[in-house]
Amino acid sequence: MKMNRIQFQPGISLSEFLADYDTEDRCAATIESARWPTGFECPHYGNKRHSSYMRGSVKVFQCSICRKQTTLTEDTIFHSTKLPLTKWFQVRYFLTQTKNNISSLEMKRLIGVCYRTAWTVKHKIMQVMFEQEQTTKLSGRVEVDDAYLGGEHEGSKRGRGSEDKSPFVAAVQTKQ
Ligand SMILES: [Zn+2]
Repeated sequence: MKMNRIQFQPGISLSEFLADYDTEDRCAATIESARWPTGFECPHYGNKRHSSYMRGSVKVFQCSICRKQTTLTEDTIFHSTKLPLTKWFQVRYFLTQTKNNISSLEMKRLIGVCYRTAWTVKHKIMQVMFEQEQTTKLSGRVEVDDAYLGGEHEGSKRGRGSEDKSPFVAAVQTKQ
């Protein structure tokens, strides 16, 4: 449950990476399991009963109790993006697999996007990576909380912070 499938293990080869994250569906499923390791949970009261459907290419969850809708990517850096998730994952892969900084120009060439997109995506991801480092202590605390929350009654109200069970999701959430 603590396995973070988006935070690629160090040294994963490019071909392994491409095999694992080759479609939008696989990237979306990765985000879903990172956001909700035990299945969707309504952000309002923590209820788990829901239905889901696709709105275009975005998965929408509807809480069976409060009826509020939550999309897979809202509150994440992927929200409202026109860039396919596979490309976001590729940028993140290159940023995490090399010790050297990759220029936006090089990223543009590697990913096959325009310079502006390469620059924007790279900086968004670097920002959350930076914030993640800043909150390493917090992540440790969240993990402890997580273990604790596991013993709580089902349906108890969950705070926003407790949604961030996966270190990656904590890293991508925009908190707006
Ligand atoms: Zn609800």
